[in-house]
Amino acid sequence: MIREKDGIHFELDERNIVADSRSTTGDLNIVSHAHFDHLHQSRSQVVCSELTAKLTEARTGEEVDRLEEHDIKLIPSGHILGSTAALFGGEKKYLYTGDVSMRKTAYLDGFNPVSADALVVESTYGVPAYTFPDQKEVESRIKNFIQDNRDQPLYLFGYSLGKAQKIQKIIESVVERPVLAHGAVKKMNDAVEEYTGVSFQAESYGENKQKLEDENAVLVAPSRSSQADWIDKNVERYGGLKAGFSGWAAQSSFKFRGGYDETFVLSDHCDFNELLELVRQVDPEEVYTHHGFDEELASHLSNQLGYSARALKQNQTSLGQFQ
Ligand SMILES: [Zn+2]
Repeated sequence: MIREKDGIHFELDERNIVADSRSTTGDLNIVSHAHFDHLHQSRSQVVCSELTAKLTEARTGEEVDRLEEHDIKLIPSGHILGSTAALFGGEKKYLYTGDVSMRKTAYLDGFNPVSADALVVESTYGVPAYTFPDQKEVESRIKNFIQDNRDQPLYLFGYSLGKAQKIQKIIESVVERPVLAHGAVKKMNDAVEEYTGVSFQAESYGENKQKLEDENAVLVAPSRSSQADWIDKNVERYGGLKAGFSGWAAQSSFKFRGGYDETFVLSDHCDFNELLELVRQVDPEEVYTHHGFDEELASHLSNQLGYSARALKQNQTSLGQFQ
């Protein structure tokens, strides 16, 4: 039985495995990555990568009771540093992708699918409208934007863990002016630097604000601050352009909603075609979708491609029960 109920619950014969739940506890609790919506609150019997545990600890200040010995295979999922998919089960193999990306972006390799009998896949961008341009093209557009606007400050917005670091790595090769990191971004930069070989040029925004005016600095800040008063005040005082980075940028509404001057389709997730390719490579008997366009992706998979596919909705029972 697989169900969505504050995370994904796998009720198998011998035990309950719970993935990415904030509150409930299974016999084993998978944490696929260190984004806040996936952080396990009990922090016990946790199965995750070492890096996810460390990044979680850096974010929350609490220790993660990470199991060293278990029979769940963790496979890098290409979403953010430390993120993993999980493969488990006896005769019947289950693959839980967590948030997943097949593309190589900046310093992160894409997910390499393995075969499984039952696939639980995220479907954030599970409709054809979210077909992303080539990653190299996106990265070179970003670099051009940075170079073409060297005579004014730039304010770049993305999630503080993952996206903000990718933005920094993409622009570092072209900027000849200071890069400033907002406090939340700097904290994640420091954690990533401490636990991986990746390092960043950025200085902290707090002590170096003046560089926006004096040296046309580039500020990297969390997406939630794109319309904050302090940003608007900076733009008023020093001028400059605001840019947003997200898969949602594939639709023009993203630009208006975030109040951006420019947007880039820089995503940490699979686009529609990559989701289909992932399913094809896993070659499962059953597919369960969750998150975003879950119904749409499941119906495309079953109606167009002949898979046995179903969206996992809150408290709904599994495909097996309906057959
Ligand atoms: Zn995530």
